[in-house]
Amino acid sequence: MPSNRDYYEILGVPRNANDEQIKKAFRKLAFQYHPDHSKEAGAEEKFKEINEAYEVLSDAEKRSSYDRYGQVVTSDWYGFEGFNFGGLGNIFDAFFGGATTTAQRRAPQKGADLRAKLDLSFEEAIFGVDKGFEIWRVENCSLCHGVGSQPGTNPQRCPNCNGSGQVHRTQQSLFGHFVQTSTCPRCHGEGSITTNPCPQCKGSGKEKVKRKLMVTIPQGVDESHHMRLSGEGEAGIYGGSPGDIYITFSIKPHKFFVRKGTDILYELPINFAQAALGNNMEVPTLDGKTILRIPPGTQNGKVFRIKDKGVPRLDGKGRGDQLVRIQIVTPQSLDENQRRLFEELAKTLPQAEMPEDENKGVMDRIKGIFGEN
Ligand SMILES: [Zn+2]
Ligand SMILES: [Zn+2]
Repeated sequence: MPSNRDYYEILGVPRNANDEQIKKAFRKLAFQYHPDHSKEAGAEEKFKEINEAYEVLSDAEKRSSYDRYGQVVTSDWYGFEGFNFGGLGNIFDAFFGGATTTAQRRAPQKGADLRAKLDLSFEEAIFGVDKGFEIWRVENCSLCHGVGSQPGTNPQRCPNCNGSGQVHRTQQSLFGHFVQTSTCPRCHGEGSITTNPCPQCKGSGKEKVKRKLMVTIPQGVDESHHMRLSGEGEAGIYGGSPGDIYITFSIKPHKFFVRKGTDILYELPINFAQAALGNNMEVPTLDGKTILRIPPGTQNGKVFRIKDKGVPRLDGKGRGDQLVRIQIVTPQSLDENQRRLFEELAKTLPQAEMPEDENKGVMDRIKGIFGEN
């Protein structure tokens, strides 16, 4: 739902275009619409769109996310300023060299970006969910549609600057005369003044409204990811496109699962007898209970891997695993009979030695003791 602009359409390439085709299309369009070259109306907006499309489609991870969800979900946090015009100019510079000019007065400006942090349960982050959330944002006034004057009336050309938005003052000095240009104080550079302000927005053309939005959270997100809802931010200025909303996640911990990347860690307590004799143990997974076979002679800290019971990968390529670490629990109280049996058993057991574990060296075992996986 959020993106109303199709990136493939913007670049004019098919959905299966390869990197070379995408790059070529971008170069051509970026040159055509660059504000330094193009005097076409809306060129700057178009240029920004082209850059945004290229930024996503030229990055394998972002493109794959866009293809799957129509949105961009990435783990690299590029700062918000990376999306303003100055930042986009850098992409252009990398291709063509040379500096870009700054936006002109009254040129359309993209609206501000907003942030939203969504609370997700452990399972919602893993399996995805449709979430509603509320956000305050500045929109164009619903009565005057952003114009600022009462419907039926029109803003008038500013008499102070004759509509240019700038005033010039000539100063005489020893060295000749200077022309000083400054923003018109009457119209604040807009070139027009509102004689009949809109009663709803008092002439600002904007209003702050609370909106309820829905977003589809894909499976496999974590707190290092963010999503961009394109065009859902604040209204643009002078007809510019709206900003975006950046969504981050706050994920509740689970009672007994710990997530590590796409793997799920689980600690399984077993008793002496189960460890020595082996046992089929019931183990919870994200998909319900499963049976894990504990072989006879299982040591404390041994890790078993249950394939494909972990977190679905963002790129859709399968799932991680569940890792089950064995925690052998020593009984803390024995009844008379148990004590007798243990004493009996103890007489037959040799002095314990470190087991030969082909999977684990001493260092790994020590790390395990100090709680590192
Ligand atoms: Zn209004
Ligand atoms: Zn003026």
